[in-house]
Amino acid sequence: MRRALEVAADNPPGNGVEAGAAGDLSGDIPVGAVLYGPDGVELAVGRNERERTGDPTAHAEVLALRRAAALRGEWRLDGCTLVVTLEPCTMCAGALVLARVSTLVFGAWEPKTGAVGSLWDVVRDRRLNHRPEVYGGVLATESAALLRAFFR
Ligand SMILES: [Zn+2]
Repeated sequence: MRRALEVAADNPPGNGVEAGAAGDLSGDIPVGAVLYGPDGVELAVGRNERERTGDPTAHAEVLALRRAAALRGEWRLDGCTLVVTLEPCTMCAGALVLARVSTLVFGAWEPKTGAVGSLWDVVRDRRLNHRPEVYGGVLATESAALLRAFFR
């Protein structure tokens, strides 16, 4: 989770990257995700890039899943662990179920859009044939503080 927080905080406002320049993420809500392989090796990271890319699906989790799948050359990410600083939304929760991610670890709860227990519980829906193991609220205070600083 410390690594995911590091990814989320990458390019915070005032770090010298010019607004609108390549790699500028200062306009994007700071959410970071890290995907680990079955052996615990880091496969990919993702940082929310919705504003920078103008892509509504460019959430941290989706980007990390895409990059890890591309690296492994297959869409199945069995045995992998996704760590993300914020409770996933319906899209991301659905994507990690489809990718067969084995374990999900997330930081802050997201009462407005959370789909891993807050508003919905997509990943533990018994009607689905794959349900990852979930650990929520890990370093939640730090993750929430990062978000609060952004919205201040
Ligand atoms: Zn999402």
